[in-house]
Amino acid sequence: MKTSIIWFGNNLRVKDNGVVQGAMQADRVLAVYFFDPRQFQINPFGFKKTERFRAKFLLETVQQLKKNLEELNITLLVYHEKPEDKLPELIESYNIDQVHLQNEWTSEESDVISEVQRRAASTTMFHKYNDQFLFHPDDIPFDSMAQIPQVFTVFRKKCEKYVSMRPCFSNPISKPIDNRVPSNTKIPTLEDLGYSNFETDHRSAFPFKGGEDSALQRIQHYFWDTKKLAYYKKTRNGLLGTDYSSKLSAWLANGSISTRTIYWEVKRFEAEITKNQDTYWLIFELMWRDYFKYVSQKHGNQIFKIDGILEKDYDWDSDKTALNEWVNGKTQDNFVNANMIELKQTGWMSNRGRQNVASYWSKHLQQDWRIGASYFESILIDYDVHSNWGNWMYNSGVGNDPRNRTFNTKSQAERYDPDYKFRNRWLQPTLF
Ligand SMILES: Cc1cc2nc3c(=O)[nH]c(=O)nc-3n(C[C@H](O)[C@H](O)[C@H](O)COP(=O)(O)OP(=O)(O)OC[C@H]3O[C@@H](n4cnc5c(N)ncnc54)[C@H](O)[C@@H]3O)c2cc1C
Repeated sequence: MKTSIIWFGNNLRVKDNGVVQGAMQADRVLAVYFFDPRQFQINPFGFKKTERFRAKFLLETVQQLKKNLEELNITLLVYHEKPEDKLPELIESYNIDQVHLQNEWTSEESDVISEVQRRAASTTMFHKYNDQFLFHPDDIPFDSMAQIPQVFTVFRKKCEKYVSMRPCFSNPISKPIDNRVPSNTKIPTLEDLGYSNFETDHRSAFPFKGGEDSALQRIQHYFWDTKKLAYYKKTRNGLLGTDYSSKLSAWLANGSISTRTIYWEVKRFEAEITKNQDTYWLIFELMWRDYFKYVSQKHGNQIFKIDGILEKDYDWDSDKTALNEWVNGKTQDNFVNANMIELKQTGWMSNRGRQNVASYWSKHLQQDWRIGASYFESILIDYDVHSNWGNWMYNSGVGNDPRNRTFNTKSQAERYDPDYKFRNRWLQPTLF
């Protein structure tokens, strides 16, 4: 009898999950998730690595995952411990033959995986899956990571021409009831992770819950109930409300929905409702997401270095007062301030806002871009290592922007917030 364990990371879903599919081939299947204490500590730039918004979203996600696994008769064990301190012990006590997990290559994540492998019994097989992409690494038209183009458009055009999208996995079939193992583990509370409970700000553009079911509900709403997808390209630069863009990023970031699922839902929408520039554009943006994953594979830890992947030797400042003003929305620029207050109060900021505040921080104030990226890593509800550091490099002149643009935050505000609605919402809270 073979026993496998699904070691969940940023792939917190049951549906269309190659890791789950692989593990389910064994006779007995367990699952485990670790709230790694290192993720809740202070990072080298002085920010809590995970702020309360993402922590809450993650807890909700794991609760839904546990429930969805129970329906398959799979027990989810949950620990607030370092994986390398616990998983080797579980492997031994449950006689686990195989560990199935999502592949990771950024250093913090891959170091943890290596350490677990080092400490586990040498007979344990580790199966790693590259299941977080739109275009699977085995399908892209580049022979090695070194060939990943420095410019997104080149990457996109080649992928669009040569890659055929893989179908989604069919839904997993439940295991027999005797597959279950007794569990006395419990999902920690927000307080256990070091936060006080809090209510979502009523002005938030992201008032959603974490978890696979919630992600699918969001697709139902945005695609099918309101048909907002048919206008996505026209509205995606918006700043106010829940529906100017898909808002799928937080679920994508922790893997409670797959990009394939979204892709094939777009295709179904195109077949059944309408196919236009707007529907294409959602897939276009998912290609950006993939691109930054390939950029981080190509360049490794260089994406976290001050000179970035362009190895540019700029003169950066790191002024504490400037940081305090930027984080708290007290700069000279009211558009930047409104966006930064929204971020601080909700963990969310629009793409338009992110580009402006990042450019303001690194290009206008000429402050060390990594401090800004690190603050985003802490506070964003949808933090994703590849998208965050990739976009920050891009906006700071050390990444993949061939034009090295600087945002004029004044004209951006006039264009995207001409009637001050967005700025009033965050700068004059008493009105709302
Ligand atoms: C400085 C900066 C930091 C960012 N940090 C993150 C981050 O940590 N996590 C994150 O998911 N996105 C990040 N982004 C990208 C983008 O802002 C968000 O993905 C987007 O705003 C999320 O909203 P949405 O889901 O409604 O996006 P939509 O506009 O509906 O797009 C659909 C999906 O496409 C992907 N996508 C869209 N734009 C980008 C982009 N520029 N780069 C990569 N993927 C993209 C996302 O997965 C998104 O959910 C960052 C952008 C900037 C400028």
